[in-house]
Amino acid sequence: MTSLALPERRDLQLPDAAQDRSREPTPRWWRDATAAFAWAVTLFVVALWVAGGGLTAFGSAGESLTNLGHLSGLLASVLMLLQVLLMARIPVVEQAWGQDELARVHRLVGFTSFNLMLAHIALTILGYSAGTDLGVIGTFVDEVLHSPGMLLALAGAVALVMVVVTSVRKARARLRHESWHLLHLYAYLGGGLALPHQLWTGQDFNTNGLATGFWWGLYAVALISVLVFRVGLPLIRSRRHRLVVSHVVAESSTVTSVVMTGRRLDLLRVRAGQFFQWRFLDGPGWTRANPYSLSAAPDGRTLRITAEAVGGSSSRLATLRPGTKVLLEGPYGRLHTGVRTSGKAVLIGAGIGITPLRAILEELPAAPTAKDGVVVIYRVGSHADIVLGNELLDLARSRGGRVVAVVGHRNRERSSWLPADSSSLGDVEAMTRIVPDIAERDVYVCGNPAWMDAVIAAAHEAGVPREAVHHERFSY
Ligand SMILES: Cc1cc2nc3c(=O)[nH]c(=O)nc-3n(C[C@H](O)[C@H](O)[C@H](O)COP(=O)(O)OP(=O)(O)OC[C@H]3O[C@@H](n4cnc5c(N)ncnc54)[C@H](O)[C@@H]3O)c2cc1C
Repeated sequence: MTSLALPERRDLQLPDAAQDRSREPTPRWWRDATAAFAWAVTLFVVALWVAGGGLTAFGSAGESLTNLGHLSGLLASVLMLLQVLLMARIPVVEQAWGQDELARVHRLVGFTSFNLMLAHIALTILGYSAGTDLGVIGTFVDEVLHSPGMLLALAGAVALVMVVVTSVRKARARLRHESWHLLHLYAYLGGGLALPHQLWTGQDFNTNGLATGFWWGLYAVALISVLVFRVGLPLIRSRRHRLVVSHVVAESSTVTSVVMTGRRLDLLRVRAGQFFQWRFLDGPGWTRANPYSLSAAPDGRTLRITAEAVGGSSSRLATLRPGTKVLLEGPYGRLHTGVRTSGKAVLIGAGIGITPLRAILEELPAAPTAKDGVVVIYRVGSHADIVLGNELLDLARSRGGRVVAVVGHRNRERSSWLPADSSSLGDVEAMTRIVPDIAERDVYVCGNPAWMDAVIAAAHEAGVPREAVHHERFSY
């Protein structure tokens, strides 16, 4: 482990880090409020099922299976709609949860909804088949061919199977991100195709005006949210700010910064550390949106990203020409100083994960005493991998802080945030040796997911409370 030693540089202009009150974060209670809303909606669905006679419909084995099939279908539907709302990028939801947490909940709710859908199909067919002599397969075929909307529902179920199968981690790792994302959009199709059978045959949808109004309302809210927040708002923002590439800077042989300017960027409610989905309109690649965090605090005139070339889109950044138009979607993410819980901070980044931390550093105020100064821990494979090093040093110094580089190759023997040649040190021991008062600080973490898990575990073990750890993963 070595202290970062880079040449002195005095020519860097440090922007004013004054906090803008209009960019206050969404209060944390929004998170509890959205979770309570989701539970309330789910319980309301169960209440509608009870009101429709659900509890009294357990007669014969066939009736009981069909009845449970209805309940699981209703729960699968409501979870799917909540899932859409969760990922609709509704600003208060997105800001209250942050992308990392939303992605985790999205996975959990998505798989639960899918399992309930499978249970719905199996239980309903088993229940129906008990009352006929067609057998299970015959009942299934009969339902698909003769019940209104059922053929569409089957197509919807197939689309959802495809979405879920391609989201299993092993399968996903084999797909290109764009292919996976395109397949994932079939979830909307799956949900849409299931709707007619719910309306035409779903007795629980039509038992009374309240149930009908509730379901139509929920479908409408989900659809409107997607259209407004995933399509409308990004288009309005992009049109309002008319962002263009100002210039491109090669930070290293593989890392490029892109600086953009636009109209009234002071009105963009964004904080250092947040990210946008970017589309550079320089050719066929504009159909792809890629997430990049701001690598400098927004100053109302420019936005800067810094990206490592790892594939097609990120490699193209180095060739962008000044004047190239840019569409943006965001800002997103909870990795910013607005979420801090104390006056002291430690920023821990690995590789290109240092970029949002570099921006956050710029927004942090100077510490009153040297011992309270911000600490930046920068984990890299070798000194050659350090990017934005001078900026980090200048910013840290100007805030009474310091930068510590933790250099060396990954430890393949055990899961650790330290390099292999520091294996004599424990993860927590190393952390508290660098930052003895870490338990009293906010800890901002960004890097690759496995490394981040090791950092977060060590921070918690060192006494940092859950709400003081803020992180952003560079992969979903
Ligand atoms: C919230 C967030 C912030 C990020 N900020 C930065 C940053 O500041 N600097 C930086 O260098 N990188 C950042 N990344 C990673 C960056 O988005 C990917 O490296 C980039 O999109 C790769 O695209 P590609 O076509 O060059 O490579 P590909 O070969 O297509 O992909 C390489 C890897 O990037 C992932 N990836 C590709 N496209 C996307 C996408 N649209 N969304 C999410 N993951 C994708 C793939 O799953 C794959 O693991 C960030 C990622 C996220 C999720």
